[in-house]
Amino acid sequence: MVKAVAVLSCSDGVSGTVYFSQEGDGPTHVTGNLSGLRPGLHGFHVHALGDTTNGCMSTGPHFNPAGKEHGAPEDENRHAGDLGNVTVGDDGMQSVILFTVDISVVITIPS
Ligand SMILES: [Zn+2]
Repeated sequence: MVKAVAVLSCSDGVSGTVYFSQEGDGPTHVTGNLSGLRPGLHGFHVHALGDTTNGCMSTGPHFNPAGKEHGAPEDENRHAGDLGNVTVGDDGMQSVILFTVDISVVITIPS
């Protein structure tokens, strides 16, 4: 099994931890928690870059190695990083997220 984690933190109080796990060539399972968001739907995407030095502005476009159009997770023509929406409740501020997606977890070891 291959695993990855993204720890999210923002000066406006949004934070969370997102876990990616993939068994063999199977789908990738995405789980985690978010807090500090307004109630309602929020688009959830994997971006091309891990650079958060300028907040979301420096994370680049949605992860899109196949050069497709932005779309919903069930669309054939969509960015690989388009995972759909998460729903934050009125009490809010916290949401458990769960997706199963067809992107791969790739571990790169710096030389
Ligand atoms: Zn997109």
